[in-house]
Amino acid sequence: MMLIVNTVLGPVSTGDLGFTLMHEHVVSTAAGLSQNYPEFLDSEFMAKAVERLTQIKKEGIDTIVDATTTDLGRDVTALAHLARLSGVNLITCTGWWLREPFFLAGASADQIAKIFVREIEVGIAGTNIKAGIIKGASENPGVTEWQAKVLRAIARAHRQTGLPIMLHSNSPGKVGTQQVAILKEEGVDLSRVKLDHSNDTTDLDYLKWLLEQGCYLGMDRYPGRGLGPLERNQTLKVLIDAGYADRLLPSHDWSLLRPMGDSPMGPPKPPEPEGRAANPHGCLYVKNEVFPSLREMGVAEEILDRLCVVGPRNFLAGVK
Ligand SMILES: [Zn+2]
Repeated sequence: MMLIVNTVLGPVSTGDLGFTLMHEHVVSTAAGLSQNYPEFLDSEFMAKAVERLTQIKKEGIDTIVDATTTDLGRDVTALAHLARLSGVNLITCTGWWLREPFFLAGASADQIAKIFVREIEVGIAGTNIKAGIIKGASENPGVTEWQAKVLRAIARAHRQTGLPIMLHSNSPGKVGTQQVAILKEEGVDLSRVKLDHSNDTTDLDYLKWLLEQGCYLGMDRYPGRGLGPLERNQTLKVLIDAGYADRLLPSHDWSLLRPMGDSPMGPPKPPEPEGRAANPHGCLYVKNEVFPSLREMGVAEEILDRLCVVGPRNFLAGVK
């Protein structure tokens, strides 16, 4: 069992994480943006980020897992600054998102795993800030050759360090079955694996199959696109009723700030339908909208109290 988890400000006891959102993006950028175009992330932008995170903390969110990998623009120094000023525990990830970078073409799974392990045990980008989770990704129609290699690297880094795995997945395409098969080949204990974006489908057979393998499910697209929040809530309710409450992890996959929407450099409004107009609650949508709906559907208060506390803690700690 892991008694501590690495946050960007250092180790925190898994028992102290509190209310945790397991898949968000604090600042949505692109690789290299903060170094090359610092004008997008100027002091005004950062002050806005602090303000939003401080508000979130005041509303009872204690911890956020930032699912922003290097190729999505991870900036751990900025995250540490934001965590320090807002009081929110921020957990950063190692791993990789969807596309193969030229500079890693021809690298072996073991070579890639070594990079991930260094980011977990030594630090990221020349700092001593360590990753608290390992992320991988695949989309429709399935796991590409590159993604399979990364997934094997993730499995090996996980087995070496004990850190849990989060996987961006395409649930309507049941891509999780392919991801799980590779992890099984690598000997990964599937109770350390979270399949993300699982509430993009209402296919209960598929979702129950993943749960029966031991996986956690990231119910982390709220309010989401395609499916409406009502369908997402109904799926969550059915799985809660089936006894899986502690392995269902609600979150938003929300970008707290977008340089092109929130910086003075950008246009005045972020593109719809992802914009704030579509979800004025931002990262509080689960608390403000989903929980009241579940309550109306008859989900017990005790379960709502546990959903974003017990599940995240057990997953990060590796509790059986
Ligand atoms: Zn995401």
